[in-house]
Amino acid sequence: MLVKFWGVRGSIPTPLTSQQVKNRIASVLQRVKPDDLISPESKEIFLSTLPEDIFGTVGGNTTCIEVITKNPICLIFDAGTGLRELGNYYAREKKEVNEFHIFFTHFHWDHIQGIPFFAPFFNKKNSIYFYSPVPQFETYLKDQMKFPYFPIEMGFLAARIHFIELEGREKKIKDSVIAWRRMKHPGGCFSYKVSSNGKSTIVATDSEITEKEFKQIDENISFFKDADMLILDSQYTLTEHINKIDWGHSSYSMDVDLASVWKVKNLVLFHHEPLYNDKKIMSIERLSRWYLNHLKNKNINIIIAIEGKELKV
Ligand SMILES: [Zn+2]
Ligand SMILES: [Zn+2]
Repeated sequence: MLVKFWGVRGSIPTPLTSQQVKNRIASVLQRVKPDDLISPESKEIFLSTLPEDIFGTVGGNTTCIEVITKNPICLIFDAGTGLRELGNYYAREKKEVNEFHIFFTHFHWDHIQGIPFFAPFFNKKNSIYFYSPVPQFETYLKDQMKFPYFPIEMGFLAARIHFIELEGREKKIKDSVIAWRRMKHPGGCFSYKVSSNGKSTIVATDSEITEKEFKQIDENISFFKDADMLILDSQYTLTEHINKIDWGHSSYSMDVDLASVWKVKNLVLFHHEPLYNDKKIMSIERLSRWYLNHLKNKNINIIIAIEGKELKV
C-alpha cells in the first residue's frame, strides 16, 4: 500500500507569498560558498544540505489523500484543492484507470473545493463513486456546482457519477476494506481505515482527540490498534490548542499520545494550519519527536505530511 498526499493544508488554500519566495532566495544566497558552485555535483550536494523549509514547502492545497493498492482503481479521501492535481495527473498519465472512489470525511469547504475542477469528470469512460455515511450528502456536492457558484452543473458532466450512502460498519472495494468511525469536529466528521493485503492506513483529519479515542473498547481496538499508518489532524501547537478547545482540531502531543496508546507504526501529522509557515510546521515535526523521546517510545515513525510525497505503508 502507498499513500500519496495531494493536499495537506487545512481550512483554506495557502500558496507561498511573493515575500516568502524572496526570503528563501535570500537565505540560499547567504548560505552558498564559491566551492559549492564549482561543479554540477557540488551544486547538488549544496542543495541537498538545505533545510526543507528553504528548498521545498509542505504545500498549500487543501486536503486530498490517495491510497494506492494493487487494484487498478483510484481510492481518494477528501476532495480539497489537491484533488485538481490528482485529477490532472490521472487524465494525463493514467488513462487506463477509469474508476474513482472518493470518500468524504465531512463537507467543510476545504474538503470539497477541488470537485468542480476534477478532470476525470470530463471523460465519458470514467465512473466516479462518492461515499459518505451522511444521509443525502449528494445535495451538498451538487449545490456547490449550481448557478451562480459554478458554470457547469454536476448533471452535465460526461462521467457516470454515483452517490453511495455508507451503512453498517465497512465497505469492500476490490480487495480493500474501508471502515469508518465518528470523530469530534463541529458538524461531525468521520475517519476512515483502509485495510488491504495485510496493511492498514487510517485517515483522521479534522478530529479533536478526546478521552473517547483512548478507551480500551472493542470499537477503538478494532479501528486503531496496531495500525500501520495513522494520518491525524495536528493543526495546532499545544499552546494554541489550549486557546482553541472545541474548535475540532488536535495538537501534536495528543497525536503522539494516541499513536503510542494504540501502538501505531507510522504517525503522519496532517491538516496544517494556514497561518503557519513551513518553518513552523517543520518545527512541529521536531517537537513531536522530542515528545515521543520524552515518553521513551522508540517505536513510532513520525512524519509531517508534505504535498506530493508518497509514503510506503
Ligand atoms: Zn478541514
Ligand atoms: Zn472541518
